[in-house]
Amino acid sequence: MKLLVVEDEVKTGDYVRQGLTEAGFIVDLARTGLDGHHLALTGAYDLIILDVMLPDVDGWRIVQALRDAKSSTPVLFLTARDSVEDRVKGLELGADDYLVKPFAFSELLARVRTLLRRGAASAFQDKLQVADLVLDIPRRRAERQERRITLTNKEFALLELMVRRQGEVLPRSLIASQVWDMNFDSDTNVIDVAIRRLRAKIDDDFEPKLIHTVRGMGYMLDVTLPD
Ligand code: CA
Repeated sequence: MKLLVVEDEVKTGDYVRQGLTEAGFIVDLARTGLDGHHLALTGAYDLIILDVMLPDVDGWRIVQALRDAKSSTPVLFLTARDSVEDRVKGLELGADDYLVKPFAFSELLARVRTLLRRGAASAFQDKLQVADLVLDIPRRRAERQERRITLTNKEFALLELMVRRQGEVLPRSLIASQVWDMNFDSDTNVIDVAIRRLRAKIDDDFEPKLIHTVRGMGYMLDVTLPD
């Protein structure tokens, strides 16, 4: 799951990004309203956390631009202003929830999880399964043949993407954009290394093999081999 955080306060931005990354999310952080506006409209995010008070383009304009573009990406506002009018304005413009600063990280994480669940009720399932591979999304656990497989956050994110898009060939550029943040240089062989490690954990001791290399194109996860 990939999130965008738009926050001009350096400490808050770093704190939120670090916490969400540790919780297993892929996080892009925009430190200005302009960058946030651009990323929100061009990136594929599962949720956007938006500071209201930004020095250039404020959070209200960003959520308005998103809704004008018919985007239904859930938006959680962070606001230092605790006035009723501000909350109402944010919700009227199409924000899904708000959190008043200062907040506890656990509170933010709970809101994020609730919004993700609500936002994609049909697509979002707690458990995903391909053959005997089962992913428990909220607990970030993977198992095959009921044996627990320990994965890093990055490996889990990669596997979750592949399972959600079972049977599709995923180019490295797509994997890079969904599993790494915007600063990632996709020319490196980091993706191939990550796939190799994941495969060792998911496939080496089990049958059928699930992760396949599609030469010249990318990778796919499925029960059967690609043609
Ligand atoms: Ca701010």
